[in-house]
Amino acid sequence: MPTPLTWQDATITAAVPETPRVRRLTLAVGWPAPFRAGQHVDVRLTAPDGYQAQRSYSIASSPTTPETIDLLIERLDDGEVSGFFADVAEPGDAIELRGPIGGAFVWDPRMGGPLLLVAGGSGVVPLLSMLRHRAEAAPGVPALLLYSARTAEDVIARDELLRRDAEEPGFRLMLALTQGPSGRRIDAGRIAGALAALGMPAHTFVCGGNPFVSAISDLLVEAGLPARTIRTERFGG
Ligand SMILES: Cc1cc2nc3c(=O)[nH]c(=O)nc-3n(C[C@H](O)[C@H](O)[C@H](O)COP(=O)(O)OP(=O)(O)OC[C@H]3O[C@@H](n4cnc5c(N)ncnc54)[C@H](O)[C@@H]3O)c2cc1C
Repeated sequence: MPTPLTWQDATITAAVPETPRVRRLTLAVGWPAPFRAGQHVDVRLTAPDGYQAQRSYSIASSPTTPETIDLLIERLDDGEVSGFFADVAEPGDAIELRGPIGGAFVWDPRMGGPLLLVAGGSGVVPLLSMLRHRAEAAPGVPALLLYSARTAEDVIARDELLRRDAEEPGFRLMLALTQGPSGRRIDAGRIAGALAALGMPAHTFVCGGNPFVSAISDLLVEAGLPARTIRTERFGG
């Protein structure tokens, strides 16, 4: 019986552009256990000479469909592994993968809300899994996504998020676009606006690159959120 730490083959069943820099890969997996929203997998690439590279990618899809998972991979300049998934990998390819991994950065409906989700760039990926799961299993839980992206076309799952914002009474989307004439990063004013709209969150999840997560965590604590209610995931950078 494989465990989450056993390397297994997973087959790519679809690969489509999500934004100009992000590609969505769907993988058929044989899971040892159902996953939880917020968890990630490790993937491992092996070159013909035996050189191996291993990276982590969050699961974007909902735990209610555990037989396939969606990964959303951003192409980084000079990125060793992201470049392969963004440009080279194709449906039918088998890749080595292990998981699901991660015990702290998870949300499930039992935990309830209100839920404050704060994303920088591809850090929205595990938060998408939480939002999708919430919509299916706990639509009454109030949730707000404060999402910083460079431009409107860089917003991952933009159509879905706008639709949820329009259709789901308990969900609010707040976008902070950083480029362009009115570009603005998430600052204390944005955090205050999110808290005014949502109320005091029971759980806050922050995900993105290292500088983003550090800056947002400080702003949240300064805004009065108890540190024990804030969970963070750092993608590196
Ligand atoms: C738990 C976890 C979940 C993750 N989930 C996702 C995900 O869902 N989608 C996704 O696209 N990535 C995700 N990442 C990041 C991913 O694991 C890789 O770090 C990323 O794809 C870069 O790998 P690379 O081999 O292409 O770049 P590398 O060859 O390792 O690095 C290339 C250059 O990019 C810089 N760099 C590395 N990582 C980052 C980063 N995250 N942001 C900015 N610069 C960086 C490096 O310093 C270097 O200069 C996750 C990371 C963790 C730890």
